[in-house]
Amino acid sequence: MNILKRVNIHCPNCGAKATLHPASFVYGNSRSAGSYLYVCDRYPACNSYVAAHRTTRQPMGSLADGELRHKRIQAHRAFDRLWRSGLMTKKEAYQWMQTEFGLHEEQAHIAQFGAYMCDRLICACEKFRIHSAEAA
Ligand SMILES: [Zn+2]
Repeated sequence: MNILKRVNIHCPNCGAKATLHPASFVYGNSRSAGSYLYVCDRYPACNSYVAAHRTTRQPMGSLADGELRHKRIQAHRAFDRLWRSGLMTKKEAYQWMQTEFGLHEEQAHIAQFGAYMCDRLICACEKFRIHSAEAA
């Protein structure tokens, strides 16, 4: 099995091709040694990239610009709070997300979400937490 097969992905923001680079290409130091990013070929004019899986080097989701990366971090924080608080297991949290938004398992990844879905997830997590607090 060729796990390091080349992936052809494009930047959703400008349409240019994205290329696999060591993370230092963007972060400029060895802080993330061993990790890789798919970076828009027009970087830094177009500030879009996405992390690659450590072993398979497949993109973790779609390329995101600064604003969307920030939103995804916020959405992840809200989502992780659900299962870190012990309200449910991590697996249950992902199942809840799938049910809540009618997603297939492979779609239920925040790295694939656009800004709108991030907002909806943050909102749904808040509602769930408030509801659980009231029920307790
Ligand atoms: Zn781009």
